[in-house]
Amino acid sequence: GLRGWCRLRHTSQSERMETQSQVVERLRETFRSGVTLPEQFRRTQLTNLIAMIEENEEQIIKALHKDLAKPKFEAVLSEVDILINELYYANANLNSWMKREYVTKNLATKLDDCFVRREPLGVVLVIGAWNYPLQLLLLPMVGAIAAGNCVIIKPSEISAATEQLIAELVPKYLSQDCYAVVQGGAEETKALLKNRFDHIFYTGSQAVARSVLVAASVHLTPVTLELGGKCPCLLYGAVNMAAAARRLVWAKYFNSGQSCVAPDYVLCTPATREALLPEIQKTLVDCFGTEPQASPDLGRIVSPRHWTHLMELLGRSKGKVVVGGEGNQEDKYIAPTVLVDVAEDDALMQEEIFGPILPIICVDTLEEGIAFINRQEKPLALYVFSEESSVVETVLKNTSSGGFCSNDGILHMTLPSLPFGGVGSSGWGNYHGRWGFETFSHRRACMLRGWGLEMLNGLRYPPYTERKLSW
Ligand code: NAD
Repeated sequence: GLRGWCRLRHTSQSERMETQSQVVERLRETFRSGVTLPEQFRRTQLTNLIAMIEENEEQIIKALHKDLAKPKFEAVLSEVDILINELYYANANLNSWMKREYVTKNLATKLDDCFVRREPLGVVLVIGAWNYPLQLLLLPMVGAIAAGNCVIIKPSEISAATEQLIAELVPKYLSQDCYAVVQGGAEETKALLKNRFDHIFYTGSQAVARSVLVAASVHLTPVTLELGGKCPCLLYGAVNMAAAARRLVWAKYFNSGQSCVAPDYVLCTPATREALLPEIQKTLVDCFGTEPQASPDLGRIVSPRHWTHLMELLGRSKGKVVVGGEGNQEDKYIAPTVLVDVAEDDALMQEEIFGPILPIICVDTLEEGIAFINRQEKPLALYVFSEESSVVETVLKNTSSGGFCSNDGILHMTLPSLPFGGVGSSGWGNYHGRWGFETFSHRRACMLRGWGLEMLNGLRYPPYTERKLSW
């Protein structure tokens, strides 16, 4: 549409007047030229990305504050540092990731070179979401650059300040021939998706993921989907309640609950709930004071539309609010909220909450808790809190989820050595560290045959005698 055409003009000087398909074509030309292939080129671009983030950290923090009132601490931890870590990790390991991987051979191939060669896919598209608007866009891009691809990134239009900043900075620091930012909302993204890509990496909701898949099917483009869902947090047996409450509160109310790996709801016995509730209340006061709206350490809901949706969801719940419950539309503020007596068919349990609202659901036994989890879609993350390792192991062995973390929340996704991604409806594929490099690489099976031992080959040519078969 016209808006998309206008917005594209902001991406860079050289992309002025270019249509989306011209950008894709231009990047394809670059890819064909082979400039992205040498290790040194990839390293330079990754190093430039480090410079981009380090030199503009203040501006990044400001933009994130404008979009989500993200506290500086949270912005540094979950957007800036996680990216810097990933970039250094990629640069330190790129050489070994790019090496040919020699494989086991049989008698017939004894003298040959048999290896897997990681090759870039071509021009790839990364579509990001608004809740971690920098990290969710650039972290996949690190893998894509490391693997030697040309990359188009499409930031979320909902986090507009960060979107704008990314569109300004990326062309200043990275090769414009190889990488481009395309801006726009649903309409522009739908138009962009009509182009042929060699891979699409999508982060966002399940609903939009379906239309991404439909678009990808036209060109048979492989897709990675980083989606959401309801991440359970099961507390069972002996639990250090004070520590559990602190870790739970931190993971839940970080970014005001707008994390794909935030604990969505708590499952525990009525007795555990009674012990946990006062600790949650105490922790909330410790963290945000008695008037959380005045705390600089609590983010805001991203938009008035998202705010209204959350408040309506809360209004439809038949659960009992025991902490918080208030909201202020103008400020896009929702108090850290906890509800009890929430039934499995409650409104809050029908969709991912994605806000600072925590329902506590009671089960009587560990088996009941596990059965509850297994009745839902497979979550992106599953948390279990217990001092008994047998409880942790039982939950681990009897459930499925994208990631698993015991006695904490969110933290498992900060390690670049662990793959990050969902399973089932919480997503397809994964990234972070080597896993991101792999996602954006083709593993080409290579056999370099020589001319020796033709005698042995004689065995396989017709006529296929019985003797050859039984040899
Ligand atoms: P969003 O609204 O920002 O959408 C994501 C992207 O899709 C944006 O770039 C947007 O422009 C684009 N888009 C929107 N409508 C489109 C359409 N019709 N066609 C094509 N593209 C379209 O973010 P969201 O979807 O509200 O994100 C929240 C969801 O993302 C939650 O479910 C959350 O759990 C999930 N999420 C997952 C991860 C993960 O890593 N697995 C991370 C963050 C968020």
